[in-house]
Amino acid sequence: MILLSRTDHEIYELANRVLTDITEKMSNGLYKRLNGTLSFGWATAPKFNAWAESKTFVGGPPQHKIFLHYELARILYRDAEGFCTFALDSQTEHLINTTFGDNATDPLPECFTLDDCINNMFLASLTWVYFHELGHLMQEHGRVRGSPTPDKYTIQELDAHAANILTGLQASISHATELAADFEATTQCLMASAQHFLRGPLVDESDGAEVFIGNVYLLTCSLACIFYRFNAGSTACAEIPVTGSHPNPIYRLEVAAPHIYEFSEILLKATGFDRGRNRLVSMTKQAADLGSFFCNYKRSTGTEETIHLFVKGFLQRPEFKLYSREIITIWDKIYPDISTARHFGSELGIMHFTEDYRKFVFSE
Ligand SMILES: [Zn+2]
Repeated sequence: MILLSRTDHEIYELANRVLTDITEKMSNGLYKRLNGTLSFGWATAPKFNAWAESKTFVGGPPQHKIFLHYELARILYRDAEGFCTFALDSQTEHLINTTFGDNATDPLPECFTLDDCINNMFLASLTWVYFHELGHLMQEHGRVRGSPTPDKYTIQELDAHAANILTGLQASISHATELAADFEATTQCLMASAQHFLRGPLVDESDGAEVFIGNVYLLTCSLACIFYRFNAGSTACAEIPVTGSHPNPIYRLEVAAPHIYEFSEILLKATGFDRGRNRLVSMTKQAADLGSFFCNYKRSTGTEETIHLFVKGFLQRPEFKLYSREIITIWDKIYPDISTARHFGSELGIMHFTEDYRKFVFSE
């Protein structure tokens, strides 16, 4: 049962407070040191959309703007409410036990109340979308994608491309840079979560690791919701030739899931905690799968077979091989320019593919 539901107006207020605060901190810190500017604004049209705008000239300081629609914040909150209610349903419990067996974990983190779960999932998804836009800007993706107005680059999540579906090189670059922005966003969210919860000021030391892990679980659930919500710009599955602006949700989840458990393990170990890799792997898989299941069945937005929605690991996805080959080839090609343009950020935020996966992808 939902204990405390927010009105739409309360959602907008909370979202504005959180994102204005992040923007001010970055603007007065990092951007000031680089002689750059970062601003943030809201759009009122009722769309699930966000966009990033850059007026940076080559070699100059970053001139960046991020916009989110109020409707996006509202839907992210309602999805968090809906997902948490769904996760506690007895049918979902049955689904978890039959699907994940001995690896099953709690449907929602036990260290949080239901209200906390909804709030934390909402805040994770909201800040992730913001950091995804920031990821596009940090790496100046507009420049590598090209623009009809060379002094200003804009990247839309819900591209107005219905009349002009991207194909060829433009589509491949768009897909690769979307995945790169995902990578920056996930890294930023996990680092922020570690800062708050792993020996941070908000929890005592012994609870820190569990609270961090609980947040990682909710972040993963929210990524499935976000990817399926943004699905309008993606192709049906990871097929070639690459078309459209965004990769398919399940492909984005396949990239995000190992990144999440690997980087979480690094962050935990760096602060003296070891919760076991297997637990992190199975927890991330359950969160991604449950999120996908919620989006496709509970919310009734899709008709795919259940098995196609489940995260399996790239090495178990021969059907993604040719698409991955195209993405990695394009990424390797554009990466030198992106690396030069990248204004700031940890190396850990740069998308990479393991040697094992590269071998797999480029083998016949
Ligand atoms: Zn994007």
